[in-house]
Amino acid sequence: MKIFEEQGAFHKGHFKLSSGLHSEYYLQCALVLADPKIAAILCKELGGKFKGEKIDVVIGPAVGGITAAYEVARALGARGIFSEREDGKMILRRGFKLEPGEKVLVIEDVTTTGGSAQEVVDLAKSLGAEIIGVGAIIDRSGGKAKFSVPFESLAQLEIETFQPEDCPLCKAGKPIIKPGSKK
Ligand SMILES: [Zn+2]
Repeated sequence: MKIFEEQGAFHKGHFKLSSGLHSEYYLQCALVLADPKIAAILCKELGGKFKGEKIDVVIGPAVGGITAAYEVARALGARGIFSEREDGKMILRRGFKLEPGEKVLVIEDVTTTGGSAQEVVDLAKSLGAEIIGVGAIIDRSGGKAKFSVPFESLAQLEIETFQPEDCPLCKAGKPIIKPGSKK
């Protein structure tokens, strides 16, 4: 989390998220992964949590999972690919393939509910792959996200979000910041 703070990717305050919800914390993993040296360190650490398993392929759900999955793949000497959503369904495009029996690790940057990562697990399973686990740089579900396979993260946070009309920070009169906009 210190690395996140140093990169301006984790702040405490009162934020309007891109979803329109309000939150006391702002977390932007893409900012941290924008530094390839930092991305390499974090992803090597995350990949190391699945040591002992020979991983053939690392898959991340686009867009958030692309960089993290690719860097974990590099660290593990595996193939790095990503899945995409088409008409609401998680699929492999661009000629990406999984062979039956290949050992797969699913990686995302931030786990919120775990929904997308579980969809990638289900997709890989439907193609006959063996799923070794799911990994995330940050688990922001506070440990509530559960998968049908082992789950590892580098840090666990519980970040509550509020509808603007129910936001206790608004009620307390705290000025709101929209991350990404000029201050
Ligand atoms: Zn608010």
